[in-house]
Amino acid sequence: MEKDFIKVEKEGVVYFKSLLAGRYNVLCFFFSRFGGLSKEPFSSFNFSFQVGDDPEDVKKNFAKLKEVTKAYKIITLNQIHSDNVFIYNGSEYKQRQGDAIITAQKRVFIGVKTADCLPVMLLDKKNNVAAAIHAGRRGTVKNILGKTISTLYQKFNTKSEDILVFTGPYICEDCYEVSKEIAKKFPLKCFSEKNNKFYASLLKANIFLAKSMGVLMSNIYSLNLCTKENKIFFSYRRDRKTGRMISGIMLN
Ligand SMILES: [Zn+2]
Repeated sequence: MEKDFIKVEKEGVVYFKSLLAGRYNVLCFFFSRFGGLSKEPFSSFNFSFQVGDDPEDVKKNFAKLKEVTKAYKIITLNQIHSDNVFIYNGSEYKQRQGDAIITAQKRVFIGVKTADCLPVMLLDKKNNVAAAIHAGRRGTVKNILGKTISTLYQKFNTKSEDILVFTGPYICEDCYEVSKEIAKKFPLKCFSEKNNKFYASLLKANIFLAKSMGVLMSNIYSLNLCTKENKIFFSYRRDRKTGRMISGIMLN
């Protein structure tokens, strides 16, 4: 698991960018909470309309994201912790429910909103197809990552060795206590037990699921920063009433 990311600070916006994706002319960004227009407790780069923030501020954040990424279009989903995979083919978009987006369209930034859940970006470097996945505990247990990869295999003729995986900030295993019931649904070695409390690793579990689909370990790149421990990120477990960061990928 290599480090591939550099931290960028531009006009107040702070984000982590994949250098490897850049070499394929693809932008893969994990944004922090800094650089937006939302006010406390959503300050400031919040992308969720569902957390109680002023919708006008959220719209301004989307406009700023468009500026920063130079995207022609931004696609996000109404996330419901499902395993619904949506393929964006360039036609007119109306807000949909789901937790993964795939596109082969250029200049379309596909993004997922998180605060503690694991954002995962995929790139088929040969066929130029990108995917953005919201993998929380429920999505992980439903194997939304595996379902997205299998959609790439079936609909885009992707080969497993061509898949690059980029994972973003998430709540680390030490900070992520879950119920025994949830923990037991995680793959073996992807959860731990201490003093009768259970802790799950969204990262280990999704790496396991990617490998089970044939992805090469050497093609997995993780920004291993904990949202709860690093105040540059929104963390639901830390703050409860808070915003959601955006992470995304865009073909150029
Ligand atoms: Zn942590």
